[in-house]
Amino acid sequence: MPIVVQKYGGTSVADPDRIKAVADRIAAGHAAGNQLVVVVSAMGDTTDELLDLASRVSVSPPQRELDMLLTAGERISMALLAMALSERGVPAVSYTGSQAGILTDSTHGEARITRITGERVRESLEEGKVVIVAGFQGVDPESKEITTLGRGGSDATAVALAAALGADSVEIYTDVEGVFTADPRIVADARKLDEVPYDEMLELSAGGAGVLMTRSVEFGRRFDVPINVRSSFSEDVGTWVREASMEQAIVSGIAHDRSEAKVTVNRVPDRPGVAAALFGPLARAGVNVDMIVQNVSHAGTTDISFTVPRANVDDAERIAKQVSDGIGAGSVDVDPDIAKVSVVGAGMKSQPGVAARMFETLAEAGINIEMISTSAIRISCVVRADQIEEAVRVLHDAFDPPVITEEPAP
Ligand code: ASP
Ligand code: MG
Repeated sequence: MPIVVQKYGGTSVADPDRIKAVADRIAAGHAAGNQLVVVVSAMGDTTDELLDLASRVSVSPPQRELDMLLTAGERISMALLAMALSERGVPAVSYTGSQAGILTDSTHGEARITRITGERVRESLEEGKVVIVAGFQGVDPESKEITTLGRGGSDATAVALAAALGADSVEIYTDVEGVFTADPRIVADARKLDEVPYDEMLELSAGGAGVLMTRSVEFGRRFDVPINVRSSFSEDVGTWVREASMEQAIVSGIAHDRSEAKVTVNRVPDRPGVAAALFGPLARAGVNVDMIVQNVSHAGTTDISFTVPRANVDDAERIAKQVSDGIGAGSVDVDPDIAKVSVVGAGMKSQPGVAARMFETLAEAGINIEMISTSAIRISCVVRADQIEEAVRVLHDAFDPPVITEEPAP
C-alpha cells in the first residue's frame, strides 16, 4: 500500500469545522486504500498567541521553556484531528514529534532534524491506523529535551517524514492554491505555477515566499521527495516542486521579504581581517547575516552594511558596536525600514540582461536600490520598506508573461 504524507497548515485546522473538513478529506484517502501520515500545524494563530503570552510573563523567556510552550500548539490540533477521525470510524492515533521519533540537534527554537526513527509511526500504519504527527517539533536524543524547528517548521517535519518513510511525494495543504509568480495579495494578476524546480523554490522561499519553509525544500531536494503544495479548501491540483524539467523560465517568480533590517558600521578601517572581526562574532551569536555591502574606501576607511532578521537586530547592533569599538571604526546605524525584492529564475543563467532590466524597471518607478546581491538564479535588491509593494508590482509586470529558454541548465 502506498504511504501518503500530508501536512495541514494552521488555517486548514483553524477551528472545529475546518478540522472536521480535514478529517473528511483524510477519511476519503484512507477509504481509497492509502496508508496516511498526517502532519499538523497549530490551530490558526496559536503559535503567535503563545509567543505573546510568553512575552507577558518574561522579557526574555528561556528558550527551553519557549519550546515547551510552543509545542503545545501542535499537540492540541493533533489530538482534535484524531478525535474527529475516530468520530468518523477511521482508526487514528496522534503522536508528538518525540513519540514519532523525530530526532534533532539541541538548538532550541531553530533545531535541525538529524534522524527520524519512526518506529511507532510504522507500527501504527501496519495496524491500519491513520497516524497524525505534531509538526514543528522533535527531541534531542542526548539531552532528551523537546525542541522546535523554527517558524513554519511543520513543512520540514512533513518532507523529512516522507523521506524517512519512503513516500513517493508529500502533499502540503495550505490556504492558497499553490506557489504563485508573486504574492497575489499584492499582484492581482499573479499566476499559479504548475511546477517549480527545487532550486528555484529554494530561492523563492529564502527570498520571502512564505508558502514553504526553506529547509523543507532543502529536504525535498536532498532526498528527492517531490512536494505538492495545494489548497485544503479546493480540489485544485496545486503546484509541484520537484526536479527541473527541460524548460527553464528566465524568471519564474518575484519574492519579497519585509522581515529584515539593515545595520551599517561606519568608517571601518580598510585592512585585512576587519570583515572577519565583524562577521565572526555575529555568526557565533547565531545571527544569520543575509546581504553584505562594503563601499569603496576613502582615506583608509569604508562603510559596511548588512541585513539580518529583524528578530536578531538587537543582538546584531550590540555585537557590531563592540566590534566597532575594538577595531576603531565609527558609529553603528540600524535601519528597520527596508525590504528585499528578488527576481528568481533558472533560465537567467543563460540569459544576459536580467539584472539590467530589473534595475531599469525599479529606476523607472522611482525606486532607489540600496543593496544588491545575486546568485546564479536570483537577483535581490534592498529598497525602502514603503516602496516594496510597488517594486513587486512593476517587476512582475516587466517579467511576466515568462519567457522560456529551451536550453536546460548545464
Ligand atoms: N506552528 C508553527 C508556526 O506557526 C509551525 C508551523 O505552522 O509550521 O510557525
Ligand atoms: Mg506555513
